[in-house]
Amino acid sequence: MRLRPGYEVYWRGPGSTQIGVDPRCAVVLDDLSDAEQQLLAELPQMMDVDWLQARGNELGMRPAQVRRLQRRLARAGVLVDLPVAAATGPDDQYWRLAHVAGAKRPRDRSRAVVEICRADPIGLRTGLLLAQAGVGAIVVNDPGPVLATDVVAGPYRGDDVGEPRQRAALGLLRAVAPHLRTSVPTGTSPDVLLLVDHHVVDPVPVRRLRRERRPHLSVLATEVAVRVGPMVTPGGACTTCLEHYRREKDDRWPAVAAQAALRPPAAVETSLVWWGAVAASQQLLAQVDGRAVATRSATLELTGWQEVPTRTSWSPHPDCECSSAHRRRARPPSRSSAAA
Ligand SMILES: [Zn+2]
Repeated sequence: MRLRPGYEVYWRGPGSTQIGVDPRCAVVLDDLSDAEQQLLAELPQMMDVDWLQARGNELGMRPAQVRRLQRRLARAGVLVDLPVAAATGPDDQYWRLAHVAGAKRPRDRSRAVVEICRADPIGLRTGLLLAQAGVGAIVVNDPGPVLATDVVAGPYRGDDVGEPRQRAALGLLRAVAPHLRTSVPTGTSPDVLLLVDHHVVDPVPVRRLRRERRPHLSVLATEVAVRVGPMVTPGGACTTCLEHYRREKDDRWPAVAAQAALRPPAAVETSLVWWGAVAASQQLLAQVDGRAVATRSATLELTGWQEVPTRTSWSPHPDCECSSAHRRRARPPSRSSAAA
């Protein structure tokens, strides 16, 4: 039993002590004696209950008084049953404090499997964030070579140029998460896939994933923006829906899109690379954790001259094969209606 890692103790005034700063997880204890305040001030050094009793005794407190204070701390949720020697990384520490703020701690992510299709700087940085957040397995699917522009945007190194991206990426991923698994366990498939495209979404893999009802997140880089989403899950709008909406606005879009798919990747502004990776990793972690995903039937888009991303909601397009309206139209007529 010890103080939750990350908490600091603050003197508010005579008889009043505060643990933590952020109002969402901070706790205020009032009506304290001088000895109790002194004991609380030393709480970050607490090793176990015996330490609390011994130090309280040294400060002139009775055992019952120390036990009462310990119960107050336990009720407030600021103590945790964790050995002092237990290693706590920043993410672990964060979620232990978020728990006091009422947030549900993510389920164990060590069993989660995420596949990254295209390990360009956005895809690779997303993978690094996922690995550091505790995702147990990351599969990189990108046989293409590391480009000189990838090195500029990082974190690829000069020596990686020309190497298959999937090989170079795995080395960097393992450097931040030595126990990371890099293949899908036999008999399973990834929980979610990340697809990074430039200029236009490749329709082939998304059509297959949609039909197989496998959750996937689209990230699209264009000349001046990065778009994160939609997270495609059954019943929500998909990337093909967005293509239908674009074609409604521009009937020549399919001709342009077919050419754009073959052009060199967009040069993505550095802060947009990092933003895209952060936004994508947050969406993927929400999906892995089973939380609400903000980009389900929605996209987040940011340019280099905006301070906050634009969020746009999308309905399944009635002409897209993902929509229930399309499926109703495509269904063969029933016997009674055929006879009519
Ligand atoms: Zn659709």
